[in-house]
Amino acid sequence: MASLTRMDANEPLHIHDDDLDLYVAGRLSAADSYPIRAHLIECEVCGRRLARAVECMLELAAQSRSRFRLVNRERRQEPRTSTNDPGSMRMLHPVVGDWSNVRILDASKSGIRVQTSEFIQTGSLVQLRIKNTIVLGEVRYCVDAGDGFYAGVQVQDLH
Ligand SMILES: [Zn+2]
Repeated sequence: MASLTRMDANEPLHIHDDDLDLYVAGRLSAADSYPIRAHLIECEVCGRRLARAVECMLELAAQSRSRFRLVNRERRQEPRTSTNDPGSMRMLHPVVGDWSNVRILDASKSGIRVQTSEFIQTGSLVQLRIKNTIVLGEVRYCVDAGDGFYAGVQVQDLH
């Protein structure tokens, strides 16, 4: 259960390090994320800590991406699996957003095509939650498909 903790007896309540990491990783439930999001709106200190935590995650993603490119070069043709699974997605960078429902249209090892109700800026970093898996990805394109937007998300971390 996420809760605010006091770093020092004289300090105001802040988000615990572990909870902040879980929040950035998208591993907190909606109920647990709520007090954290509410605190982030008001607290400059935790806002800066969040920015640092996101930077750290992006750095790790960049490292695994360069490893991934090496692997990917050797396997140009990848099987693409059509699905119609529900999932959820949230923006991680430039701003951390709320989870919203998406539909997973198809997926390969390097890319996932999703149907969303809202336009997502190309280059945005997003987290996609599909069943029990959360992946980090970069939005490569987003097109108006009439019944929503189709976005191509390039997966950045390997699981
Ligand atoms: Zn705080």
